[in-house]
Amino acid sequence: MSKDNTPGFDTLAVHAGAQPDPATGARATPIFQTTAFVFEDVDHAASLFGLQAFGNIYTRITNPTTAVLETKVAALEGGTAALAVASGHAAQLLAFHTILEPGDEFVAVRQLYGGSINQFNHSFKKFDWQVVWADADDMESIERAISPKTKAIFIESLSNPGGGVTDIEAVSRIARRAGVPLICDNTLATPYLCRPIEHGADIVLHSLTKFMGGHGNSMGGVIVDAGTFNWSREGRYPTLSEPCESYHGIKLHETFGNMAFAIACRVLGLRDLGPALSPQNSFLLLTGIETLSLRMQRHCDNSLAVAEYLNNHDKVAWINYAGLSGHRHHNLQQKYSPKGAGAVFTFGVKGGYDAGVKVVSNVNLLSHLANLGDTRSLIIHPASTTHRQLPEPQQIAAGAGPDVIRLSIGIENKEDIIADLEQALNTI
Ligand SMILES: *Cc1c(COP(=O)(O)O)cnc(C)c1O
Repeated sequence: MSKDNTPGFDTLAVHAGAQPDPATGARATPIFQTTAFVFEDVDHAASLFGLQAFGNIYTRITNPTTAVLETKVAALEGGTAALAVASGHAAQLLAFHTILEPGDEFVAVRQLYGGSINQFNHSFKKFDWQVVWADADDMESIERAISPKTKAIFIESLSNPGGGVTDIEAVSRIARRAGVPLICDNTLATPYLCRPIEHGADIVLHSLTKFMGGHGNSMGGVIVDAGTFNWSREGRYPTLSEPCESYHGIKLHETFGNMAFAIACRVLGLRDLGPALSPQNSFLLLTGIETLSLRMQRHCDNSLAVAEYLNNHDKVAWINYAGLSGHRHHNLQQKYSPKGAGAVFTFGVKGGYDAGVKVVSNVNLLSHLANLGDTRSLIIHPASTTHRQLPEPQQIAAGAGPDVIRLSIGIENKEDIIADLEQALNTI
């Protein structure tokens, strides 16, 4: 415990949100594998449906196993409330669904997970939500991208796949001046490495599928409400500030204060769009999060060792890991993610496309697949897989040129990871 009696991060990872089951004494959080919950009586049912009381109605909206996960992640991020959903992309959809009206814009930096770029460029257009792209390394480009229609700014703390580090406080100052919330995808860092709310983020999102769950066995996502943003100013966020027709005209921000955003995402977005997390997955994600600190430190320590090894390899043309002192973001990494630079990064092999294919074809311990944040070490050659459909100039612009290999370093013995890369690089 710290001086003010709040438990430390590792204690919260194990205990926050959880208690022995009052009905059975079960110590691990039970999997409440039920669709619906019995009402005490008609008045109780009415108060639940009218949002006058908190309680369970139907697992699309709340579930007790998932509630433990939500409380735990909110505690780890230092937020007021959280909403867990079926995937990271579902979390992004519901967050923007709560913030944006048709015709609205949001600013996103280009240094993002490829799936987010697709979601913003294509599927969001169907709702008439317009993304305006900026550059995470150029604060002026973010300022320039803001217009009277801008309703949010979206960044990643550590960026996928480039392994860059975003200057969250600088972006947050721009968001404050523009009167819009800063949304930070904290998937690659996890709150063990970086807590974006402490640096001015108003909303934190995760793909729990990755390092939070950490075992490559279940999808999930979460929206964390920092409770910091004033949704009622100037009526720019009508979902939160105006009377809500489907709840007898209550105003969500006025009623729920600093938890209003998470509640709106649940009682409107999740209720109506439906990407609920299964209780079984909540259980697996909870189990993963209990060991978050141990795993993340090992992921980072292994990654630094692998990065140092690759940095000195004569078949490696370049390496992009912010934990190395020569990296352009090393100072930002020391500030925002001092315990380590995460475990996802790219390097280039001499010999271009063919050499890249050789390496991924010859690994044994590493798995060649499209995921990250697993206990296992993972490798992918984007130019022959995820970015295959793009012409080469666009591949290069996306950080996925022909020579690029992306690693997600696991928690195995670092000597074994390095030995496997060594024999694969020797096949070039
Ligand atoms: C994987 C990922 C997502 C999407 O999450 P899913 O759980 O796959 O829907 C979003 N952001 C980042 C940074 C990711 O790595």
